[in-house]
Amino acid sequence: MTSDADHNESVAGLDWRGLIEVGRDLYLTGLVTSHGGNLSLERFGGGALITRTGGMLGHLSEADLVPINGGGQRDRREDPEPSSNTAVHLAIYANQPEAKAVIHAHAVYTVAVCERWEAIDPPNVEGKRFLGRVPVLDLQVGEEALPVAEALRERRIVAVRGHGTFAWGTDIWDALRVTSALEESSQLIHLRGVTTRPPPPPA
Ligand SMILES: [Zn+2]
Repeated sequence: MTSDADHNESVAGLDWRGLIEVGRDLYLTGLVTSHGGNLSLERFGGGALITRTGGMLGHLSEADLVPINGGGQRDRREDPEPSSNTAVHLAIYANQPEAKAVIHAHAVYTVAVCERWEAIDPPNVEGKRFLGRVPVLDLQVGEEALPVAEALRERRIVAVRGHGTFAWGTDIWDALRVTSALEESSQLIHLRGVTTRPPPPPA
């Protein structure tokens, strides 16, 4: 392996390939739209490697990943602007020592269920086990960072009404598992509302 190859497999000392693969999975499974959502990895010593603003998660390359410090500033001025949700990602890392990766997604069923409920209570065994009760927060754009980070001290994922979810993981695949599990639970909640038990047979 050449030194160029070594360089190409890490940015800011972090292996970025997982971000590319998980971004693709999020898009292909409908958890984000073509230009929606964002991802990051925590950097050693503070800060993050985060997707650029307006990046396409299904088609990420190394050039779409921006190293930032703990204050949200870019290492290199020539890099693109980091995600508009950068402050939320950094607040999660600052408040949850176990968080090594963060996913912000706009999964359709999860956002839809948030419209009607104050919290999402998974009806299925997996959701109960991995997620528990997921609160739905009412937050203005730009004011999410501290309330979301506070909520994620005690749980893995939180939903923001009319917007989407923020989830953390011990790695990016773990954050995908949590995001995907909540969407499955939300689909089941929706389907429970549109399916009806058949009437009992005549005596
Ligand atoms: Zn968003």
